[in-house]
Order: sequence, then structure tokens, then C-alpha cells
Amino acid sequence: MTEKAIPVARPTLGEEEAQAARRAILSGWVVQGPEVAAFEKEFAALVGASYAVAVSSGTAALHLALMALDISEGDEVLTVSHSFIATANAARYVGARPVFVDVEPATGNIDADQVARAVTRRTRVILAVHQLGMPCNLEAILPVALDFNIKVVEDAACALGSEIRLPGRDWEFIGKPHGDLACFSFHPRKVITTGDGGMITTANPKLGQRLARLRSHSMSMSAAERHGAGKVVFEQYLELGYNYRLTDIQAAMGREQLKRLPWMLEARRRLVRRYLEALTGHPYLALPEEPSYARSNWQSFWITLTSNCPYSQRGVMEALLARGIHTRRGVMCAHREPAYRNLPLHSPLPVSEYLQDHSIILPLYPDMTIVEQDRVIAALEECLAP
Ligand SMILES: *Cc1c(COP(=O)(O)O)cnc(C)c1O
Repeated sequence: MTEKAIPVARPTLGEEEAQAARRAILSGWVVQGPEVAAFEKEFAALVGASYAVAVSSGTAALHLALMALDISEGDEVLTVSHSFIATANAARYVGARPVFVDVEPATGNIDADQVARAVTRRTRVILAVHQLGMPCNLEAILPVALDFNIKVVEDAACALGSEIRLPGRDWEFIGKPHGDLACFSFHPRKVITTGDGGMITTANPKLGQRLARLRSHSMSMSAAERHGAGKVVFEQYLELGYNYRLTDIQAAMGREQLKRLPWMLEARRRLVRRYLEALTGHPYLALPEEPSYARSNWQSFWITLTSNCPYSQRGVMEALLARGIHTRRGVMCAHREPAYRNLPLHSPLPVSEYLQDHSIILPLYPDMTIVEQDRVIAALEECLAP
């Protein structure tokens, strides 16, 4: 193999992030300090949220979001199995039961038509995932939540920069939020990264304040407040909390990543247009579709092998790898994992399982070159020859 391998994803990090981390380190304040506060403010302004609370990961964000809504033992969390396992795990962290709804094939998102039917008297919250950056159908989900008086948490781990248009409104960023809370991740596989890291946004000041305490053991005052008090003060610990803090080194990186976001989104969308142009009409492929209400950030671009395709998912992935092209299988299903063996499944999830077994995530990252992308397209056409 003479050509360089093409990764499935690659974060865009450079001198700017390195300088920012250096600045934070040399400042002497390295956790939950001024860089974190500035990152939260800039993030909130970008997505149009009133409050943004930085945490140590997207998983921590989901856990605290459910805690802040007082979801607990005996409650049901309506969500999808077809997601990264952290989504369903978050429900279990608070002692609740995840109840899975199937997804739509063209978006990989929760099938909104099935949501109302899955509500029981124990349902307390809908955990709505914007899978791989594709906004889910909140226009249909929010009224169901209102009807049954249940909360909505958005798993926006992948969806920074994605936009949604609700009836009578303009395009708005995911994370405004449209539900009660939205949770983001800054893992290197997402559109911006701080190594690990996460953010929760809300329009509700009470929830915002409680989340800011929960991430730091529910201390009655933040370290910054205590430091700035100018007198001796003793803190209290108000309820069970966690250490889910973000460091200032990470936040300083994140602020640089936010500056790159407009360009990174533009690059992702341009590359996806080229993928769609090249692959539309292929007899063995179904391609993702943006519904009229959604603009994806294309955190990932995936293809689905149709039922008449003579090649298997694994076979295609291996043939691509032999040509130096790395891919990942489609989104997993939590209910099929050993960790979920003891959780009874109430309804079949045929689309979720089909997508896990037939979808392939193709290489996509902001500084992917046209030459690299054309290699992926040519290899894919070879591997999927009719
Ligand atoms: C990545 C991801 C998470 C978890 O985020 P971490 O920062 O890795 O903890 C949760 N939900 C979805 C849908 C994700 O893609």
C-alpha cells in the first residue's frame, strides 16, 4: 500500500489550542476558573441559550441533566436504543428504566410517531437524541411532552452547530434549548473537542444554578465565589453531587475550537454535498436525508446498505480497509449489549437493528482533501460494484 491511510475522523487542532492551553497553565488557575466561565458564556451566546454549564464529559452532562429534573428509581426515560451507550446508561445511573422507541431509517432518529404510544404513567422524560448531528423531530415530540406533562432532555452530544426550524420560528441552533435541557460532548469524535468535556444548556435559571452546583459536589458556593469573598466563608454541601468539573486547560482549548466552528461546519457540509452527489442513485445504498426542519452539522456521514445489496457490512468495511480507508459500523443498539441483557425489551426495534447491521460511517473531517474524498468514493464504488 503506497497511499496514506484515510482515518474515519480527525479533530482539527493546532497552535491556537496549544497556546490557549499554555495560557491557562501559566495562569495558575487550572480548574473551574475564569477560562471555564468564559467558555460557558461564549458557548451560551453561540447557541442562543440563557445558561451553559460546563462538565467533564457528555456522559456527565446527561447524568446531571436527569438528576436536575429529579428523575429517579421507578421512573421511565423514553429514548432510543440506537445511540452511543451513554444515552441509555444515563437513565440507569439515576435508577430509572430506559424505554426504547425505534428510529426512522433516513435520519437514524427517534420515530416521533411512536413516541406517544410508548408513554406510560411512569414516563417522566423524553431523552431525545440528535443522532450523529441530525436534529430529531422536536416539532412532533415537544407537543407530546406537553400533553403528558413530561420533560424533554436533548442528547445533543454530536449536534453543536446543527439547526432546527420549528413552526412559525426561524432557524435556531440545537441547544437553545428547545427541550428543558440540552447536553453536548467535546470528545474528539464530535465537532469540537477539549479532549473529554461536555456542556449542558438551559433557559431555566433554577436548573442552571442547580447544575452548576451538582457538578461540584453541590457545594453551596463555587470556588471562585469563595475566593472572591474577601473574608473567611464556610461552604455547605446541599445534596449528593459529583466531581464533574471541566479544567481551565480544556476550556481554553474549547474557546479556540468555537472560533473554528463556522469554518469546520462549512467544510463538513461541502464534503457531504460531494458525497451525496457521487453516491445518490447507487442501487445498493440508502443515504441519510435532512428533513425540511433540520440542518445537520454532519458530525458523521453514513451510508446504509439496502436489502438487495449482495455485500455484507463487514465485507465492505474490510474491502475499504484493504484500500487504506477506515470506516466504522453504524450506530450501536444498547439493548443488544451484554450490559443490557437483564433489561426486558417491550417492543421490537427492527429499524434500529437494521441500521446497526447495515450502516457504515465514512471518513469525514474538516480538513479532508478533495483527493482523499475522491479516493473514498472510488474505493466504495469498487467495493459495491453491481
Ligand atoms: C458521544 C456521545 C455521548 C457521550 O459523550 P462523552 O463526552 O463521550 O461522554 C452521549 N450521547 C451520544 C449520542 C454521543 O454520541
